[in-house]
Amino acid sequence: MPSSAGRFREVIDRIAGEMARLTDRGSPADYIPALAGADPGCFGMAVAEPDGTVYGAGDWRRPFSAQSLTKVFALALVLSLEGESLWRRVGREPSGNPFNSLVQLEYENGIPRNPFINAGALVVTDRLQSLTGNAAERVRELLRVESGNAGIDFVPEIAASEAAHGDRNAALAHFMAAYGNITTPVPELLTAYFRQCSLEASCADLALAGSFLARHGVRADGSALLTRSQAKQVNAVMLTCGTYDAAGEFAYRVGLPGKSGVGGGIIAVVPGVCTLCVWSPGLDRRGNSVAGVSALDRFTTLTGLSVF
Ligand code: GLU
Repeated sequence: MPSSAGRFREVIDRIAGEMARLTDRGSPADYIPALAGADPGCFGMAVAEPDGTVYGAGDWRRPFSAQSLTKVFALALVLSLEGESLWRRVGREPSGNPFNSLVQLEYENGIPRNPFINAGALVVTDRLQSLTGNAAERVRELLRVESGNAGIDFVPEIAASEAAHGDRNAALAHFMAAYGNITTPVPELLTAYFRQCSLEASCADLALAGSFLARHGVRADGSALLTRSQAKQVNAVMLTCGTYDAAGEFAYRVGLPGKSGVGGGIIAVVPGVCTLCVWSPGLDRRGNSVAGVSALDRFTTLTGLSVF
């Protein structure tokens, strides 16, 4: 039987060539100076196959600010530790509102719509902090172990910058605390959340670290992080809620579970086949990487792979 190692190499190279010619690349996030300075010309794309083979094109080994990509890993850790009871604290419906929106919380008694908008991610980090006492370090550890890169780390300047511009996240946390849906003291929770968001890793690292999603919950060492059913659930929530208020458009164009971050990264999963990570810092008006979405759109078009 031919080896499946590197089966998408040619496709990835072709897509990187196409993305180099892209003229409208969007603009980097500008809510903190540390992200605003990123070069929209950067583009990286990595594929990790379930056996741990990883390859890529462009800036695929260059670390970038993972930001909301870390929300997938925090969610997986909480599900692995406490299972179903998490869903009493956070929903799993798309919000249709911007990622940092407060409006739905009041109508829904402090229960955020899903774990990937900021309010929901704060609840997930709150649970992880309550369960472990060191939420951000647990997320860093999961990324390090699954990627095999012990150098993955927080970027203190980014965490500090997030904190300095953190009024909205603080408002979300306090508001949910008023409903009893946050139990960690809010300053401690925000510190953990901003540190988690400040993690820097490359497309190669993140594709490998997210491989448990393509392996139906199985970690790199063969042990289970999630049950098969939980892995399906995380992928489903990524598909419906992972790309801010453009999840419908992402499903339409790409057809894969995906999670984006304001650093310009996107992790996407072809269950049973591979995990992809793309990065380009220029964002569209909903906060998704322009070249990243385009590259994933090309990937599913050229390979015919999608969950549909
Ligand atoms: N640290 C960012 C925030 O909470 C994450 C945003 C994102 O990547 O969606 O505002």
